[in-house]
Amino acid sequence: MTATIPASTSGATASGAPVDIDHYIAGRSDARGAATRADVYNPATGQITGRVAMATTGDVDAAVAAAAEAFPAWSATPAHIRARVLFRFRDLVERDSDRLAAIITAEHGKVHSDAKGEVTRGLEVVEFACGIPQQLKGEFSENVGRAVDGVTFRQPLGVVAGISPFNFPAMVPMWMFPVALACGNTFVMKPSEKDPTLSVELAKLLTEAGLPDGVFNVVHGDKVAVDALLTHDQVEAISFVGSTPIAEYIHTTASAQGKRVQALGGAKNHMVIMPDADLDQAVSALMGAAYGSAGERCMAISVAVPVGEDTANALRERLVAALADLKVGPGTDPEVEMGPLVTGVHRDKVASYIDVGVQEGAELVVDGRQSTPKDVGEGFFIGGTLFDHVTPSMRIYLEEIFGPVLSIVRAESFGDALQLVNDHEFGNGTAIFTADGNTARTYLAQVKAGMVGINVPIPVPMAFHSFGGWKRSLFGDHHIHGPEGVRFYTRNKTATTRWPNDTQVRTDFSMPTHE
Ligand code: NAD
Repeated sequence: MTATIPASTSGATASGAPVDIDHYIAGRSDARGAATRADVYNPATGQITGRVAMATTGDVDAAVAAAAEAFPAWSATPAHIRARVLFRFRDLVERDSDRLAAIITAEHGKVHSDAKGEVTRGLEVVEFACGIPQQLKGEFSENVGRAVDGVTFRQPLGVVAGISPFNFPAMVPMWMFPVALACGNTFVMKPSEKDPTLSVELAKLLTEAGLPDGVFNVVHGDKVAVDALLTHDQVEAISFVGSTPIAEYIHTTASAQGKRVQALGGAKNHMVIMPDADLDQAVSALMGAAYGSAGERCMAISVAVPVGEDTANALRERLVAALADLKVGPGTDPEVEMGPLVTGVHRDKVASYIDVGVQEGAELVVDGRQSTPKDVGEGFFIGGTLFDHVTPSMRIYLEEIFGPVLSIVRAESFGDALQLVNDHEFGNGTAIFTADGNTARTYLAQVKAGMVGINVPIPVPMAFHSFGGWKRSLFGDHHIHGPEGVRFYTRNKTATTRWPNDTQVRTDFSMPTHE
């Protein structure tokens, strides 16, 4: 099969020199912060392909100032006119989806089809946001008193900020800004410094779609930029997606500053496989969910929980066979199923967890360090890894590895499996594979996780629902996008109105009751 994948427009120049990746403030590229730059890699080659500007507090101030200046006009623009910009943006992202996916593959490493998939999942949020006039419709009660009416409606917050992780450079920013902008807010995006180009490309497409300057801005950087946003008195709300320690820090710090915060954190997602499950389907689902995107997904399955020894033995046998066929290599190769990890540092961290698992006494069934593809230069590769006989006290079970490492934890009964999932500190997503409706129904009712798949391995909600985990996978009250996103990016106002008429208005010193 031959398929053409477009060459990335990001990455090293023709001369091989890394390109500069700048901020995007007030509708144009902005090289502030250029004094300090960080390296951006192509994970498939290990080469430095970009140098991203790292914002100072002053640079963040400039982006917030641009957003604050744009807010009065944008928030006063009727919702259906705001939505029209998003309709045009939607078409531009679709037009450029191959090019955008190629940029993702070049900086993140995931395979092109997977990168295109994340662009599509982001587009679904844009499509949801295009219907914002319907979402913003308020409530009206006639005659709550004599000739008195009551009305409740939602207004935007002001300048809001988004901070995103490396693993979905298109989809996670698009979980945030389409809804925020549609609701009338202006936005400052701080993408991951590991794959920062996509946010800038989305900003350019928003400008091309007709978004007024300053409504959407991008600043690059690390903790310095993030802290400047968390403490800025003109930033009203923070949407964060990333690891749990940082999510908790973001929630604590920004909440103390009086900001609204939604902070989505890490995960350790379990798939329970019942003895009556269709094992072919379960194994096929598990392979994609554990090793797709090299396990660098917050909804990846990293723990398989077969119920009963027979189920466990059969599952393990099939997984070993499937892993022997897993094609690992550069994400630009259409035959490849799993690309590299995002950086050399992260690859080494994942490899060190394999050592930890062995030291802890887990059985290393397939060692991905041995199956790393040949002739891939200095790329950050590691093959699919499988542990069996993992126990709940081991670090490889307790901690998020965020790589292609799957652990089998054997359970004796459905009750043991459910207890295992519920006892874990994370509760992002989970799945159960079974042919029995009552087992599935009990699992759905009793499992402590925010997103549940019944014979579906990665139960990512559609854009018109909301996405979010439980326990230490989410800090704050709101899940992201969908109806919860609209609530997060707006606040309620309620009015009670009376127009002068013949009704006598008297001074009243007791509680008004509209009798
Ligand atoms: P990360 O927490 O290291 O970084 C996320 C963002 O926080 C980045 O923009 C980064 O620049 C910033 N940051 C990093 N350290 C910081 C610090 N000390 N102070 C302030 N800001 C800081 O996460 P990552 O490695 O980029 O992404 C992987 C993690 O994201 C995994 O834990 C994964 O589970 C999680 N994730 C969760 C979801 C979800 O929906 N729950 C979705 C995607 C990713």
